[in-house]
Amino acid sequence: MTSTAPRTEPDCLFCRIVAGGLPADVVATSERAIAFRDINPQAPVHVLVVPRDHHGDIAQLAAADPALLADVVALADEVAGEQADGQFRLIFNSGPRAGQSVFHVHGHVIAGAELGWTPA
Ligand code: C5P
Repeated sequence: MTSTAPRTEPDCLFCRIVAGGLPADVVATSERAIAFRDINPQAPVHVLVVPRDHHGDIAQLAAADPALLADVVALADEVAGEQADGQFRLIFNSGPRAGQSVFHVHGHVIAGAELGWTPA
């Protein structure tokens, strides 16, 4: 199989991290996704799982490339197994009112603690 360059957007923060142009604390990688620690952690384990290709949010990713969404979930599961006990919450904020601030889809892997349910 031939690999192709990821689909990128100019001025996208996470595209720059994927390309290695900005530093990040990378904890795991796969062919089509990377995982790095959130710079503002909200739990003992707080890792962002990001597809290398640029998609704006989870719905756009699911519609355009469902296999890549499956890769992102698989990498989240791997990270939770390596960084915690394998149990995790996976959050995709979608839209500014839901708290999305970076418009390159990313799943927040939250783990390493007993988690309450306080979504708002
Ligand atoms: O869901 P939302 O778009 O708000 O998540 C963006 C996340 O990216 C934030 O939790 C923020 O701390 C994180 N971030 C990061 N490294 C950066 C910029 C933002 O981990 N360089």
